[in-house]
Amino acid sequence: MFEIKWYVEDESAYDSYSRDLKHIGCPFCRGIGNLNRHGVLKGFGDEQKRQEEVVRGFRVFCSNRGNRQGCGKTHSVLLAKYLYRHSVQTREVGLFFKGLLEGKSLERSWYDSVRFFCVETGRAIWRKFSRTHLTIRSRLFKKQNISSQKEPRLVTWEGIQSLFKSNDPVRDYQLYFQRAFFSSG
Ligand SMILES: [Zn+2]
Repeated sequence: MFEIKWYVEDESAYDSYSRDLKHIGCPFCRGIGNLNRHGVLKGFGDEQKRQEEVVRGFRVFCSNRGNRQGCGKTHSVLLAKYLYRHSVQTREVGLFFKGLLEGKSLERSWYDSVRFFCVETGRAIWRKFSRTHLTIRSRLFKKQNISSQKEPRLVTWEGIQSLFKSNDPVRDYQLYFQRAFFSSG
């Protein structure tokens, strides 16, 4: 069974995925057999390469050229260690939230985790999480009833950390659920 991917771990995962593109339906027109690799998606890089453009994902084209019957639209398959439309990385957001769960102040946890952005970005990300964490929580604990005195966002974060026991739970969430971390859809 071939399934569409929105997130991959790295370039080699994309390479092997893209060999199956001819079996995968277009997310727009549902047609099978027309998807092609269509270059890369660039943006700002990770900690070492803040000022450089790096590959953040790949573009896939539903071909309507020649005798192809596609719709002509493109979609993107993203590297899971990046957050869509954010320069801050998944690993940094994970560290930031982990610090909050450990009881650090927002400022302290932010500056311990993220070097290149001011704390306003941290506040914005924490606010953003309040719009999406219930969606995430329902995905994590389908049947569980949570009663806790803790800050509700931290309860959700605790769940993410215990499901993905890695140094980058936000990346792993995106890979596992094939969804943007900050998406309420
Ligand atoms: Zn299409």
